[in-house]
Amino acid sequence: MADKNQALLHVCIIGSGPAGYYAAENLAVEDHVRVDIIDKLPTPYGLIRGGVAPDHQSIKGVFRRYEKTALGNTIHFIGNLDVGKDVTLAELRGLYDAVVVAVGAPKDRKLWIPGNDKSGVIGSAAFVGWYNSHPDFADLKLDLDITSVAVIGNGNVAVDVARVLAKTPAEMAVSDLAPYAAEVIHNSPLKDIWILGRRGPLEAKFTPKEVGEMGQLENCVALTSGADLPELTEDQMAGLNLAVRKNLIHLQSFAMNKPDQSKKALHIKFYAMPVEILGDDRVTGIRLEKTRVDENAKCIGTGETFEIECQMVIPCIGYQSIPLDGAPFDDRGGKFVNDEGKIENGLYATGWARRGPTGTIGTNRPDGHEIAAKILKGEKPSGKEGRAGLDALIKDRGLEVVTFQDWKKIEAAEEQAASGDIPRVKFHDIKDLIKATKT
Ligand code: NAP
Repeated sequence: MADKNQALLHVCIIGSGPAGYYAAENLAVEDHVRVDIIDKLPTPYGLIRGGVAPDHQSIKGVFRRYEKTALGNTIHFIGNLDVGKDVTLAELRGLYDAVVVAVGAPKDRKLWIPGNDKSGVIGSAAFVGWYNSHPDFADLKLDLDITSVAVIGNGNVAVDVARVLAKTPAEMAVSDLAPYAAEVIHNSPLKDIWILGRRGPLEAKFTPKEVGEMGQLENCVALTSGADLPELTEDQMAGLNLAVRKNLIHLQSFAMNKPDQSKKALHIKFYAMPVEILGDDRVTGIRLEKTRVDENAKCIGTGETFEIECQMVIPCIGYQSIPLDGAPFDDRGGKFVNDEGKIENGLYATGWARRGPTGTIGTNRPDGHEIAAKILKGEKPSGKEGRAGLDALIKDRGLEVVTFQDWKKIEAAEEQAASGDIPRVKFHDIKDLIKATKT
């Protein structure tokens, strides 16, 4: 505990995902720092809960580390408080010595091609949010009465989406896939899943573990064309970056696979740049241009096009942050304008809000360390009110917020609702989440 006479440094973190908690963890090492972590949702952990694939429970397990931080005496979670709506950034800056924007990148980067507004085009933020019980997307009435889907992009999100669509109920048994999504996905007549990359296998951004999983599906055969894979000598293979080499080895094995009519097919296609989504109101297909990759790894269209029949298109082409009134925003980069995490005195950004949507959960760890060090060095206690002031404002406005202890009640109710190997059945409605805090 802080020396009774030591002035307190009040820090507010907006966003309770990995970036927020790693920053908090590093700030809390100093006894005189008080940290409040605000989230728009009544639940903590951001992408761990709403983004990481439901069958990747071991990745989700990192929440235990954040929970340890959250249970510290000097850190408080304030959920169900929407910054920008319930309280402004300017108000928070008036109450806290430092504010850290750790809001992630919750909005899809849009695929700007003709036909992108047709029914059946759904961005990855919405699709992933839907199968993960995110309250903003749970009500999407997705029609998966389809036989073919085009998943655009060669990142891990594209792989997640394709895998969740490909897996059987048995393969999803140890998952927290939203029950309403499981019902739709597992009753779908889907046969063909296309993962379409605009560049080649050497430029793909997915990682070996994730690619490897595509080769182990019970009812789906991963296929790729040998013609899309580079022919490399042993020396050239050995010279590749390790992750790229491992990806290539998996892809080479997929090129040997034979289609099996009794199973789904997962077609991984490279050098295919989307140019138009086809159909009247609804998607019926996608037109792609064949590409080549130049010596600078840039994608160049060849002018030759081809079409793939599909009734749904899921662009998984990256995300962007959502601007916050009072913080300068870089529209092109989809992140907050900052200099190595500092936006201006008293205002910081960390995680995807700082860097843009790249890197894994672990990438936020050094970010959190760095931003905390900057705050501890650059900011001094100034007599601001911190939590007491925010509590007064919340009371004045009659807002209903969620504490960490409330969240633990939600968590217990979700675990209680689960059976078998299912770790939890998540609430997806804000009203139900709040109701669970009253038990
Ligand atoms: P990402 O890794 O940046 O991949 C985006 C993909 O979209 C790239 O293949 C990119 O191609 C393609 N793309 C971008 N604009 C396009 C366009 N206009 N037309 C066609 N293709 C386009 O992004 P992400 O998959 O959203 O993942 C975000 C981050 O989360 C990544 O760091 C990822 O590793 C991480 N993540 C990790 C896991 C895991 O560890 N299991 C799971 C999910 C996400 P170009 O390369 O040609 O630009």
